[in-house]
Amino acid sequence: MAVAGGDALLELRSVGVTYGRLRALHDVSLRIGSGELVGIIGPNGAGKSTLVDVIAGRTRASRGEVRLDGVALRGLPPFRIARMGIARTFQIGQPFGDASVLDSVVIGALASADDLRAARAFAREMLEAVDLAGRAGEAAERLDVGQRKRLQLAQALAMRPRLLLLDEIMAGLPPAEIDALVALVARLNASGITVVVVEHVMRAIAALARRTVVLHHGELIADDPPEAVFRDPAVMRAYLGPRFQATFGAPR
Ligand code: ADP
Ligand code: MG
Repeated sequence: MAVAGGDALLELRSVGVTYGRLRALHDVSLRIGSGELVGIIGPNGAGKSTLVDVIAGRTRASRGEVRLDGVALRGLPPFRIARMGIARTFQIGQPFGDASVLDSVVIGALASADDLRAARAFAREMLEAVDLAGRAGEAAERLDVGQRKRLQLAQALAMRPRLLLLDEIMAGLPPAEIDALVALVARLNASGITVVVVEHVMRAIAALARRTVVLHHGELIADDPPEAVFRDPAVMRAYLGPRFQATFGAPR
């Protein structure tokens, strides 16, 4: 889905984020069309989570702007941005307190449901979608790492997002769980949700993304189909190197 000239669902224009003297993001411009699934990769500290935080309103851009459907998001708090249709997961898990798995999702579902009954029903549906329905009554804190990632995903989906930002939901999970999440994310995208996947798991990026953005030291250094990104010498130098070659073989 090319968005070069047309309307973008999400548009970043020359976004910069600085922390003191550190440029966490520098002059990042990016357009994502409705229905796209875009991968974001880059070494640790490249600015990936900062990018997600800026889009979701958790971090303020020092420069530039973020637009959803042409509407500037500057200054809006995260809950307003969430209501406009942007949902995200957190790389570092947020505590669930003593809420049950179901209630953790109902809280998000309430924002878009008519009443508690409808919110509960929709939350159950989302738990089914992420394969956690069997744990609905348990304390969320008892879930293992992979299940917590899926619970976060259900919480995000409960907001009925148009744009879903996933920050390393597959990191550290066993291969079978990664495969299940890849299939789930593909289904969500096929259902019409635009998805941004930040991930170090290259085979997940290769399987999911038609377009892969590479960040390095806060700058966008590539924005191409995964096959092209994986052969890009600058990307190889910045990031992929030995790890990539061990997974995919040397580039041709
Ligand atoms: P990534 O997700 O790609 O690993 P981050 O976006 O988390 O990278 O971080 C980008 C850079 O910004 C890093 O150098 C990180 O230490 C720094 N950084 C992130 N958040 C803050 C913050 N709240 N205060 C100061 N520095 C930060
Ligand atoms: Mg990160």
